[in-house]
Amino acid sequence: MTASYDPNNIFAKILSGDIPSVKLYEDDDTLAFMDVMPQAPGHLLVIPKVGSRNLLDADPAVLAKVLPVVQKLANAVKDAFEADGVYVAQFNEAAAGQTVYHLHFHVIPRHEALPLKPHSGGMADVDVLKAQAEKIRAAL
Ligand code: 5GP
Repeated sequence: MTASYDPNNIFAKILSGDIPSVKLYEDDDTLAFMDVMPQAPGHLLVIPKVGSRNLLDADPAVLAKVLPVVQKLANAVKDAFEADGVYVAQFNEAAAGQTVYHLHFHVIPRHEALPLKPHSGGMADVDVLKAQAEKIRAAL
C-alpha cells in the first residue's frame, strides 16, 4: 500500500515559509522555485499548493491548474537560457527516483552539447540561483 501525504515534507515547509527558497512565480494554487541541486542551469520546480504525495494521489482538478504553470515556466526558462529544448520530469515513489514526497514537476532547460548533471547532486550557490531566477522572471 502506498504511504499517505506527509505534511512535514520539505516542499510543504517551503510553502509555509519555514524553509527559504528562490521563488519564481506564485498564484493561488501553484508555486515555482529554483531547485537547490540543479541538474542544469535554470532547473526549476513547479508545485501545487494543495498537498499530494505525487501524481498518483493528486486531485485531477489540481493537475489542471498546475500544468498551465509548468508550460508557462517551461517557455520562460527556454527563452531566458536560449535553450534548445526543455526537459519536464516528474517521479512517483522511490523506485522511480522520487526523493521529496510533495507532487512536483522538474523543468530543466536543455542545450544540445550540455549533458544533464546527476539528479540530487551538488548544491548550487544561492546568489547564482537568484541571478538565474531574475532572468527567468524577466521572461515570464
Ligand atoms: P525528486 O527526486 O523528489 O523528484 O526531486 C526532488 C528535487 O528537490 C531534487 O531535484 C532536489 O534537488 C530538490 N530539493 C531537495 N530539497 C530541496 C530544498 O530544500 N529546496 C529546493 N529548492 N529544492 C530541493
